[in-house]
Amino acid sequence: FDMFVLAFLERFFRTTYRKDDFVLGKKLGEGAFGVVYRVSLAKKPSSKKEGDLVLKKATEYGAVEIWMNERVRRACANCCADFLYGFLESSSKKGGEYWLIWRYEGESTLSDLTQSKDFPYNVETMILGEVQALPKGIERENRIIQTIMRQLLFALDGLHSTGIVHRDIKPQNIIFSEGSRTFKIIDLGAAADLRVGINYIPKEFLLDPRYAAPEQYIMSTQTPSAPSAPVAAALSPVLWQLNLPDRFDIYSTGLIFLQMAFPGFRTDNGLIQFNRQLKRCDYDLNAWRKTVEPRAGVELRRGFELLDLDGGIGWELLTSMVRYKARQRVSAKAALAHPYFDREALLALSFMQ
Ligand code: ADP
Ligand code: MG
Repeated sequence: FDMFVLAFLERFFRTTYRKDDFVLGKKLGEGAFGVVYRVSLAKKPSSKKEGDLVLKKATEYGAVEIWMNERVRRACANCCADFLYGFLESSSKKGGEYWLIWRYEGESTLSDLTQSKDFPYNVETMILGEVQALPKGIERENRIIQTIMRQLLFALDGLHSTGIVHRDIKPQNIIFSEGSRTFKIIDLGAAADLRVGINYIPKEFLLDPRYAAPEQYIMSTQTPSAPSAPVAAALSPVLWQLNLPDRFDIYSTGLIFLQMAFPGFRTDNGLIQFNRQLKRCDYDLNAWRKTVEPRAGVELRRGFELLDLDGGIGWELLTSMVRYKARQRVSAKAALAHPYFDREALLALSFMQ
């Protein structure tokens, strides 16, 4: 059964697009390697006047991003924003640019949502559809954060099982899909596909230092940077086991968990300050806790309280994600099986206590 033939056919029969098909709307973002717009189809002006598609005009690295999105589309469609099409737009100026088209998933990233004073209650009705009966307080907040973490890890597990490491997991790259009421991952511009050896980070590209695990470079420096594709395909399961590159994303996801539990770390400055403190403790979260807890203010204490619910199961999960050594961090799959997400098991536990 030839995956390449299948991929070719699938692509051949799919709707294709050209530059003139799109009407540009509002600019949604601008990074070093591309600009993102909300757009609509010229022939089929959407009922919403702002358009129901998203276009990224990317530089030369757009080719890799198209590759990653095509793979995700076939292997784990629901973990990332719904990708429609990517092509080289060469009619304009020097060399051309890559155009990538997704469905517009919704107006909020996890970053937008955590910046709200009302977080996590502002997310509650979005994911659950109804307000819970619990009174406001850490238990209810914990339940919302749990749901967000489960969705995040589910999407991440999908990517990792496909052989893709994202390398730029952060709240800005997590979009809330209004259609499916779930969080999805976006921005595969820095991703690496280890199964086929596509592992390219341009020299000038810096991983976001706020969310990057201490190892920075996910493959050990001894690993040849660009083996030929067949060699890489044969080697990559071995390399994956040796280097556990997926644990780079787990560290970043752990930091997002931390930010959700502690409002003080949701701002850039707050997170930078936390990173500095953790580094001083040699990336040992328990050591960090010992240094800050005795003189912690109300807000910090409340965060610990939330993570300490149900016998400290949240804190346990957090400390198994944010660790210095990649090898000691849980995988996304193992994290999903963690008792933090298992309400039945917790209930049984509380009966035994
Ligand atoms: P970059 O970070 O390289 O500029 P992203 O792919 O992260 O590009 O997109 C930039 C922003 O555009 C995102 O943070 C998000 O706000 C918005 N965005 C991207 N893709 C979608 C999508 N499918 N639906 C809705 N908004 C999106
Ligand atoms: Mg981004």
